[in-house]
Amino acid sequence: MIPGIHRPAAVCIDLAAIRKNIKEEIKHLEPGQKLFAVVKANAYGHGAVRVAQEAVKVGVSGFCVALLDEALELRRAGIVQPILVLGVTPVQFAPLAAANNVSLAVPSLAWLKEAEKFLLEKKADLVLKIHLAIDSGMGRIGFSEAEEFIAANDFLLNNTFFFVEGMFTHFASADSSDDSYFMAQVERFNHLKKLLKLKPKWIHVDNTAASIFDKNIHSDLVRFGIGMYGLNPSSNPTSPDLPVAIKLKPALSFESELVQVHTIHKNQGVGYGSTYIADNDQIIGTVPVGYADGFIRKFQGFKIKVGNEYCPIVGRICMDQLMVRLPHEMPVGTKVVLISNDTLAPNNIKAAADYVDSIHYEVACLLDDRLPRKYYGQSNC
Ligand SMILES: *Cc1c(COP(=O)(O)O)cnc(C)c1O
Repeated sequence: MIPGIHRPAAVCIDLAAIRKNIKEEIKHLEPGQKLFAVVKANAYGHGAVRVAQEAVKVGVSGFCVALLDEALELRRAGIVQPILVLGVTPVQFAPLAAANNVSLAVPSLAWLKEAEKFLLEKKADLVLKIHLAIDSGMGRIGFSEAEEFIAANDFLLNNTFFFVEGMFTHFASADSSDDSYFMAQVERFNHLKKLLKLKPKWIHVDNTAASIFDKNIHSDLVRFGIGMYGLNPSSNPTSPDLPVAIKLKPALSFESELVQVHTIHKNQGVGYGSTYIADNDQIIGTVPVGYADGFIRKFQGFKIKVGNEYCPIVGRICMDQLMVRLPHEMPVGTKVVLISNDTLAPNNIKAAADYVDSIHYEVACLLDDRLPRKYYGQSNC
């Protein structure tokens, strides 16, 4: 995918905000606890390499990604800190991970046995670093039965192909004020933890929510994702955000410009299907972004900032363009903020996510690679 650098549209990332969010979280860690920055999915749309480089500057201990390819991208960019792949990597790529000093999550004993065959085949003295994944209630990946977990421990004792670096689980509802399911997960995890026959360096359970809502579950490292981007993990349309223990500053905004401004007359339509019909003379501005950029059609009607005014998107959002109704004439080139990094602005990312019945994680990830990422430190995009 080629980013469109010859059109006025970009995802703007405030690197100072990212550094600040990490520093705040580092201050909040328990004594001895480490921070791994979660930069999967291109750092939640923020740009994995740049975010990782900033994170290194402020002292993170390692990184988490979802795919082996995302880990390899960081290695190619010169990132030397530990990297853990959180998803299940196909066994045949175990040697590739080992050769690049990338740690993999292990979902089952069967996975270990199959991966061992591939490591053996390489005859290159490769040692794969692994983290045993525990399914304590996400129903997603990892060991859940004691018997299999014990068998895996026996398999790993004195096994020279694997170095057991960690054991972890992931919570389904650390972002909820109701702790009952969370505590049941903790209990199941602790049960398996007691059966360990190895001594992994990092036993970890915290995502952003578990850490900043002070769940007080001992953990050797925090997998810090959404908080690094300045967003409250509890955010959803139906309940107020939970108060967080640290100050967060959103890093992402989505900005563009008007490329055309014209007047339409009574009974003229806007966009495909003419879902919007003017009932009087109106000024319509055109913004050169659309659903192909990840700004989905559901945003029809959402108010975005044009100059100093919040203006509704009228008509269906096209693949590459959308139209807004302007309260008065504005020049071509007027700045448009589709998503604001100001939490008080009506088009902040939470408001945007609420509008399309989604969550800010998803809205950020949807922003397509066609939009260049622009990075800034103090001033503006
Ligand atoms: C994505 C992910 C995280 C980070 O979660 P945030 O809510 O963004 O902090 C942590 N652990 C696992 C296993 C994940 O998949």
